[in-house]
Amino acid sequence: MHCDALVIGGGLAGCATACYLAEAGLSVVLLERGEINRGASGQNAGSLHFQLEHRLIHHADALGEELQHYVALTRVAIDHWRNIESELGSELELAMHGGLMLAETDDEIALLERKAGIERGQGLEVELLDADETRARAPYLSPQVRGALYCPHEGHCNPRLLTPAYARKAARLGAEIVTHCTVGETRRQGGQWQVRGEDSRGTRREWRASVLVNAAGAWTMDIGRMANLHLPVFPIGLLMNATERAAPFIHHLIQHVGRRLSMKQVDDGNVLIGGGWSARLPQQLGQWGAGRAAIDMTALRNNLRTALAVAPGIEPLKILRSWTGITGITPDQLPLIGAVSRAPGYFVAAGGSGFTYGPTYARLLSELITRGEPSHSLAPYSPDRFAHMNMFMG
Ligand SMILES: Cc1cc2nc3c(=O)[nH]c(=O)nc-3n(C[C@H](O)[C@H](O)[C@H](O)COP(=O)(O)OP(=O)(O)OC[C@H]3O[C@@H](n4cnc5c(N)ncnc54)[C@H](O)[C@@H]3O)c2cc1C
Repeated sequence: MHCDALVIGGGLAGCATACYLAEAGLSVVLLERGEINRGASGQNAGSLHFQLEHRLIHHADALGEELQHYVALTRVAIDHWRNIESELGSELELAMHGGLMLAETDDEIALLERKAGIERGQGLEVELLDADETRARAPYLSPQVRGALYCPHEGHCNPRLLTPAYARKAARLGAEIVTHCTVGETRRQGGQWQVRGEDSRGTRREWRASVLVNAAGAWTMDIGRMANLHLPVFPIGLLMNATERAAPFIHHLIQHVGRRLSMKQVDDGNVLIGGGWSARLPQQLGQWGAGRAAIDMTALRNNLRTALAVAPGIEPLKILRSWTGITGITPDQLPLIGAVSRAPGYFVAAGGSGFTYGPTYARLLSELITRGEPSHSLAPYSPDRFAHMNMFMG
């Protein structure tokens, strides 16, 4: 079967890219080995963290100019989120009431000040609050909190709703969404990408297209290998927790500049607690397996202890559920978005804070594919920054 573009992966990156490509008039087929949104895109915390995160700010020196570009891209993502419900014609439980990044020590306050300088330099609205101002906005926080950086655009969205909304719109625009189809082979022949997939009964199908988008999340590297490419996206397991419901009392996204913590209260009243605590990846014969990551009880305890230390107001709430998800990270922590020059027609959309930025990455990538140039540069995220890894790959 022929189409213009084949997309591998039915997470947010794949469904949103398929949607924008179909909107631009391309015939699109999306291949997903399970169900849509069963990977990281449906398991994540749903935070829209527009402030530079803990993991990035601690590597600010190494990242240099890239960090400024990232903040500039954040402003594009904020505008995108403000219109996303009308764009998709779906209610997504989107809340953008602002977020607080907390600090408890002098060093952390200094880090917030430095961060605010980088963010303001790129036009991102942030406000430095002292201890009293922080607690006036969030009275459930500990007196140990010495201050916070407030960004009025931060918030959250329901991850169970966003990707299916993109998939539905893509289908309405004519994209074919093929689920339960595991891609096992991709190769270039006669100027086209030839992709083979197999369903759970072992039936094989084959597609050809001039454009191939690898949007396989934590499995981007495996799909890359099929085309003789090293695409350095490494799987990591992460933990999330949800409390029982409570009357609304947390109105912001809460993060911490020095500790792993993200916390928010969703529409149903549950408080979601995460922030980058690890879960154990499944292993098979020294390889990362495809199953679920296991909960690491030490990480779970430490995650909840951190939340309690910072926000004692959550103490009466019982934990209802803890779960894990697997996402991908690159060696420099920046996303991997764009064309692979040595493989004509091959594009990647992976890595980064892929829920916050996923819609924007997908839109910009589709512009790159259909117009040759995105409306906002993706240059710092180009897979070609790792071209040296492929120079011996033939
Ligand atoms: C617990 C957790 C919390 C997170 N919290 C946040 C957050 O608050 N904010 C934020 O911005 N980001 C967050 N993230 C990161 C974010 O979820 C991911 O960056 C994003 O969802 C990645 O989307 P994706 O489409 O690239 O990957 P996925 O959603 O994982 O989709 C990849 C898809 O590819 C499919 N696939 C793989 N191999 C094949 C194959 N051979 N054939 C066919 N299909 C294949 C998989 O089945 C999967 O459905 C979190 C991640 C986790 C795990």
